[in-house]
Amino acid sequence: MTDVAKPKTQLEARLSELNKRLHSIEDELDAHQSKDWEELAVEREEDEVLEHLGNAGLVEIEAINLALKRIEEGVYGICLSCGEDISEGRLALLPATGVCAPCAQKAGIALLMEEIEKRPDDRHILQEELREKIAEMRAMGLPVPEDILRLEEQLEQDEADDLFNNMPI
Ligand SMILES: [Zn+2]
Repeated sequence: MTDVAKPKTQLEARLSELNKRLHSIEDELDAHQSKDWEELAVEREEDEVLEHLGNAGLVEIEAINLALKRIEEGVYGICLSCGEDISEGRLALLPATGVCAPCAQKAGIALLMEEIEKRPDDRHILQEELREKIAEMRAMGLPVPEDILRLEEQLEQDEADDLFNNMPI
């Protein structure tokens, strides 16, 4: 059973900080009403930055609200993906997280796989990232899931095929 008093305080503090920040972003966006073209262009750029910050804030607020809900429901600290306990160290670092380190790593790898499919031209760079992620898992002492091990083998095989296909005749 995870002790929820501390993360609850942390999450609530972060939530009010984010809400305050979002309001000041809104105020600033509202205040941007210049007449001058040049000023308008600068402000538009600033607006984009502000909006980006605002969106990131909204994503975090959503995650915090979900974490607070899990506290209320008594399921805080249990991985949403595999049902195992999330380590205390991870929760101390990322109190809003809903997944354990291996699952987060797995999700990161899945995302990379999608990227590899979408951007085949960047395949080599992405594969390198993928290998790093797998190495990170090992460094964290996490068991590398079977399917990812198979994937790693597959990648190595592809690489070897590539080398073979690109061999000068
Ligand atoms: Zn998990």
